[in-house]
Amino acid sequence: MSGNTVRLNAISSIIATPPVKAGFDYVNSPTSEVWGKNVFSLNQMAQRLPKGVFKSLKKTITSGEPLDLSTADAVAEAMKTWAISKGATHYAHVFYPLTGLTAEKHDSFYDPDGDGDTIATFSGSALVQGEPDGSSFPNGGIRQTNQARGYTIWDVTSPAYITENPNGTTLCIPTAFVSWTGESLDKKTPVLRSMQALNEQTQRVLKFFGTDGAFVSSTAGAEQEYFLIDDNFFYARPDLLACGRTLFGSPPPKGQEFDDHYFGAIPERVQAFMFEVERECFKLGIPTKTRHNEVAPGQYEIAPVFEFANVATDHQQLVMTTLKKVATKYGMTALMHEKPFAGVNGSGKHVNFSMGSSDSGNLFDPGDTPAENAQFLVFCCAMISAVYKHSKLLRAVVASASNDHRLGANEAPPAIISIFLGDELNEIMQSIAYAGDVKSKKTTLSVGVDVLPPIPMHSGDRNRTSPMAFTGNRFEFRAVGSNQSIAGPMVAMNTIMAEALDEAATFLENTDTSTTEKLGEAVAKYVGKVWANCSSVVFNGDGYSDAWHEEAAHRGLPNLRTTADALDALKEQKVTDLFSKYGVLSEREIDSRYEVYAEQYIATVNVESNLVVEMAKTMIFPAAIRYQGELANSLANLKAIGIETDHGTISQLTDLIKKLQDSVGELETMKDGEHNCADVAAHCMFVKDEILPKMLEVRSYVDALEEIVADDHWPLPTFQEMLYIK
Ligand code: ADP
Ligand code: MG
Repeated sequence: MSGNTVRLNAISSIIATPPVKAGFDYVNSPTSEVWGKNVFSLNQMAQRLPKGVFKSLKKTITSGEPLDLSTADAVAEAMKTWAISKGATHYAHVFYPLTGLTAEKHDSFYDPDGDGDTIATFSGSALVQGEPDGSSFPNGGIRQTNQARGYTIWDVTSPAYITENPNGTTLCIPTAFVSWTGESLDKKTPVLRSMQALNEQTQRVLKFFGTDGAFVSSTAGAEQEYFLIDDNFFYARPDLLACGRTLFGSPPPKGQEFDDHYFGAIPERVQAFMFEVERECFKLGIPTKTRHNEVAPGQYEIAPVFEFANVATDHQQLVMTTLKKVATKYGMTALMHEKPFAGVNGSGKHVNFSMGSSDSGNLFDPGDTPAENAQFLVFCCAMISAVYKHSKLLRAVVASASNDHRLGANEAPPAIISIFLGDELNEIMQSIAYAGDVKSKKTTLSVGVDVLPPIPMHSGDRNRTSPMAFTGNRFEFRAVGSNQSIAGPMVAMNTIMAEALDEAATFLENTDTSTTEKLGEAVAKYVGKVWANCSSVVFNGDGYSDAWHEEAAHRGLPNLRTTADALDALKEQKVTDLFSKYGVLSEREIDSRYEVYAEQYIATVNVESNLVVEMAKTMIFPAAIRYQGELANSLANLKAIGIETDHGTISQLTDLIKKLQDSVGELETMKDGEHNCADVAAHCMFVKDEILPKMLEVRSYVDALEEIVADDHWPLPTFQEMLYIK
């Protein structure tokens, strides 16, 4: 059997497969009818709960007051009745371990009743607290297996929902996952804690502008990029199956040089898939809004309307799950990896971040009045100061082995964290900051609220090269990886903003703000202070350019290219202090995160390098040897009849085969030496400096072989096939 049988079968099977038709239509079952149908929403609760119970639950949701058990019992009963009416047989506590994935433990509603029948039960305590055997989830030393108790605790602020499966449905309850000592083992707990901290500090600032009161929450809208490829190709590539990315493969003859994919017509099969994804999201109350092709062939984007950070985070996880699940139904695999195909644009997750409440509105929205503008300036400067002070932390929370392939590859923001304000806003900040400075030529303004300049709304400026871009009424954190939970970035943003607002509030509290005039002066002083200390983090130019790398180095901005370099930030005193001061993560919790993320980095590369060795030996080498045999035969035959020909191809092939063998051998030896690393940090460095470069070297020979070995011997679906055949 020749090497490419799998590939050819894949192609014919794709051509022969009729498009999937979903079992719904929009006329008989319009979107408005399915919206939120699988969510135990506030409306559902209001209808199904006694008034008193509903009121007490709502209080818990809006003010964070603890839930008493009798309320929980009543809620559980109503939830169970609702879920069973939707066909649910089980309930699941859904939690978000530090792997960044979603985990769930299912329990049946049904218990034997002792008389030979069964009875559906669901108590308040079963709703509120679960106890998964979580010993196999990473905990970074917080918990040993012999004291494996981990608890899941219902997050009342995130609604319960039903997931559908062809053979049944399950009630899902979003929960926090903590150890028996109450330490967070998950991604959700710190999100909730950081939202609390952000609200507290924001209220102190808002007092000066008369809009304090309602809980101020951060908001998030995450644009998810992903690739779709046919399952037949996916299963023919062990690297995609095990690592989510191709470890070998030369770039397709046609790449993205024609810029013909971005916003191009969406292929029919893909569009059918998108309809169903959106429909599933709607049922879960996830407000998906935008869909389009992305830059690379085979790459797409889905974006929801923004929501409060905790709900947005849970919903984002569900979007990823839904993309994967629905893709399977359409015979495709949704690849969420940041760089599935080297040389082809990678995938990110742009997290749009803002904060506000029903009373205050969006706090990053410049207003129409000078007073609103003054308030905006404080929040905007707090952001500048937060990003300046904690740029390393922001880099650390988006660090992963997979995102390293993307950051700094001239398609995503560089690993240097900076802020883009746009020229107009930049001018304004500068003129306020330099107003009192007689030496500055920019002295055009006197201070005071009345004379703060009007700030252009939605200035329309776009900068796609900045990791943190102001886009008119929010910041877009563009460095987040497509595969990552947005929890880490949200926790970081909330907490660094809390700290910066704490400083802003303290500054205003210690400054004369007794009149509107004085308040204006105080704001201008605050702007001046932030600008003087932190404006080196502001950069409005092309983040992809070499000039910026030089300039950033000159400004002293960190450029942490890899996870191995970036994770160290989590061990810095100022980061530990930050998280403990605002009650977001204790020192032990933050230490555990360093351990877990470092180990994930090592484990990811370990699986990849294992596979590089295995695929090189069992797939690539045999294909190359067979072709070499054919060429040798043919040369011998020609010689036998007196024809001498050029040995160019066979020499090149023989040379590459040798290099392949040697480099694989070296990689194996290197891997044997890995256990000599002194500690996790040293191991990370070893992975970065030795293993990854050696993997790349092996790859270079494989990719060169792909270009000369006869196509009918080549065992792996090519980039061309995977990206273009749908
Ligand atoms: P673009 O690709 O031009 O950046 P998109 O429409 O794809 O724009 O995505 C913008 C995202 O920003 C959406 O998810 C949107 O809901 C979100 N967004 C808008 N306003 C806010 C806000 N105040 N807070 C958080 N996210 C927001
Ligand atoms: Mg965008």
